[in-house]
Amino acid sequence: MEEAGEGEEYLFKIVVIGDSAVGKSNLLSRFARDEFDQNSKATIGVEFQTQVVQVDGKEVKAQVWDTAGQERFRAVTSAYYRGAVGALLVYDITRRPTFDSIKRWLDELNTHCDTTVARMLVGNKCDLEDIRDVSVEEGKNLAEEEGLFFIETSALDATNVNTAFENVIRAIYNNISRKVL
Ligand code: GDP
Ligand code: MG
Repeated sequence: MEEAGEGEEYLFKIVVIGDSAVGKSNLLSRFARDEFDQNSKATIGVEFQTQVVQVDGKEVKAQVWDTAGQERFRAVTSAYYRGAVGALLVYDITRRPTFDSIKRWLDELNTHCDTTVARMLVGNKCDLEDIRDVSVEEGKNLAEEEGLFFIETSALDATNVNTAFENVIRAIYNNISRKVL
């Protein structure tokens, strides 16, 4: 791969999808601002936040999009997905129906984006071990079946949140590097 020139920048659009209240907005605010909001209220309309990370000494801007409540109405628009190169598919480990929904979110992603999009299955709220409803094994198995990366996170105590985003960003970066070769 050719070395990027001085000051060359990468901008990656990443979408975060999954059922209502799985913790999408909090994962985003934890990643972008290291904040957690117990009473986060979904606002209507599409929003994104930008965070800069270093990959192989290069500056990468991650533009991470939040459904911002659209998902409640099963009305995530095609504009939301346009140009995405990475996706986090999030469920809540304490609510099995949100895990069962992942296939539907994957179908939706596939109708809007091609298979080169880097995909990470995210089991959020792993701080709530006492009321776990989906095992780590089940998450791993689904990820393997569907060709996704897998991680469990807690937006509340910040476990693996940066790792989840950074792994997706690195996978995207590697995809692009391969294309350049
Ligand atoms: P969204 O609808 O998917 O954007 O979910 P939100 O980010 O708004 O979170 C929904 C609810 O789950 C809020 O009450 C959050 O405080 C809570 N929540 C989000 N992430 C976590 C987490 O990692 N652990 C725990 N215990 N609660 C969380
Ligand atoms: Mg939200």
